[in-house]
Amino acid sequence: MGKKILMLGGGAAGLAAAWRLARKGLKPHVIEMSGRVGGLSGGVELNGNIYEYGPHVFHASDPEVLDDIKTLMGDDLTRFDRTVKIKFMGEYFDFPLSIADVLLKLPFDIVVKSVLDFACYATKAKFVTPAVETTESVLLGNYGRTLYALFFESYIEQVWGVPPSQFSPEFAKQRIPRMNILQVLEKFLGLFRRRVSKVERTERFVEKIEGEIFTTRRGFSLIAERMGEEIVKLGGHIHLNKKVTELFVAGRKVSSVRVVDGDVEEILECDHVISSIPINLLSGLANPTPDKNVLDAAEKLRFRGTLFVGLVVNRKKVLPASFMYFREISFNRIMDLSYFGIDVKPDHGTILIAEINCETSDFVWIEERHAKEIVINDLICEKLIEPEEILECHIFKASHAYPMYLLGYEKHLQTLLDWVESLPNLQTIGRQGRFQYVNSHVAMKMAYQAADNILSSIKSI
Ligand SMILES: Cc1cc2nc3c(=O)[nH]c(=O)nc-3n(C[C@H](O)[C@H](O)[C@H](O)COP(=O)(O)OP(=O)(O)OC[C@H]3O[C@@H](n4cnc5c(N)ncnc54)[C@H](O)[C@@H]3O)c2cc1C
Repeated sequence: MGKKILMLGGGAAGLAAAWRLARKGLKPHVIEMSGRVGGLSGGVELNGNIYEYGPHVFHASDPEVLDDIKTLMGDDLTRFDRTVKIKFMGEYFDFPLSIADVLLKLPFDIVVKSVLDFACYATKAKFVTPAVETTESVLLGNYGRTLYALFFESYIEQVWGVPPSQFSPEFAKQRIPRMNILQVLEKFLGLFRRRVSKVERTERFVEKIEGEIFTTRRGFSLIAERMGEEIVKLGGHIHLNKKVTELFVAGRKVSSVRVVDGDVEEILECDHVISSIPINLLSGLANPTPDKNVLDAAEKLRFRGTLFVGLVVNRKKVLPASFMYFREISFNRIMDLSYFGIDVKPDHGTILIAEINCETSDFVWIEERHAKEIVINDLICEKLIEPEEILECHIFKASHAYPMYLLGYEKHLQTLLDWVESLPNLQTIGRQGRFQYVNSHVAMKMAYQAADNILSSIKSI
């Protein structure tokens, strides 16, 4: 039981792994470069308020993780009803896009074209395999040219900075629901009947997402803090403001890591390492340097950054839904904390968090004043706020928000995973560590698995 186990990164994944090990009597060390635990699900504290990287809600789809979090949080875990609207072409649509809603709100000629087009592409997709499968080819087969151009092509380019033709088909398969031709035709006929009989158009703008989701009065950050407290209570250690800068490899083993805190450097010996830091950065920290093919693969994996503009507004509630998506303005998503039951100072106000997805080299990322100006301007033009209602405006950023499933990424990722596997006492987990577009509970599940691997290797000695 005297094994030295290091968690590199103190986000949901690193904390969950350490918590699992600590519950089994081990004393893991979590090394986190920022001043707070939680990573992407922990947020930042600015002027007494917690700003999350997009308010994080806890999804309950894994029973083991859910049970643990329920026990950990008790009454502090509260059910949350997520409401979502997407504004496009002056209309509010359901989100995720519902074909029925799209068909009802688009001009009738576009609807007819969409359905014909859809039938044509769906049939073609059954018989013709594209020379190179991409997200574009998958979406064309699933939706047809008209709906693809309207709803996916420019949106994906706005959010990700590259067109769908440069995305791996995996992106569309994992992230964008498929419609089946019969469902669409059925909905089209239903719509036709409703239009002909002048039945009132739907006003069901607000969609409830399936399945239970939870929050707390301090958002997900309270869950992260609680996990951290439990780790320490059980004898584990959390080291904040310590950045891992080197990974010493001796033979087929990570023997120690270099950790830097300002001017102070420390070498920490280790028996096992679980890393949740971005996998492409991790390989660059290894000493001796891994083979060139590993470094080349690391360079090819890209993450998309997200810049957040947080506004304290002097009104109890601002948005007509907890989450709103926009297609044609500076930010792609905005949330209103008043819906989340998260404490806000002052208590007669609320916080809006707008997200701009971009590259870390983009003007908007570097020029924070510009980012604030365009978001405020758009909110005023959308008639959502008045200028005099703004009490505070802050910028915070996540450089590794979204793994980009670009064409061919699978091969580069596999090269990196093979390198990780060549070092049996190293495991990588989480959204950045596995380069997987997953939510926190999935990152935690990966963490449990990695912790269990260590527990069984210790038992078998
Ligand atoms: C905008 C947005 C909204 C989201 N909303 C939700 C949601 O509502 N619900 C949900 O379940 N999931 C949501 N997610 C996904 C969720 O954030 C992730 O799945 C989860 O946070 C991943 O946890 P992780 O520990 O794998 O990674 P991270 O949270 O990124 O943790 C990695 C940690 O490693 C640290 N680190 C990096 N490099 C070093 C280094 N060299 N040395 C030391 N430490 C280092 C980082 O500081 C960070 O704390 C959202 C993601 C985004 C981007």
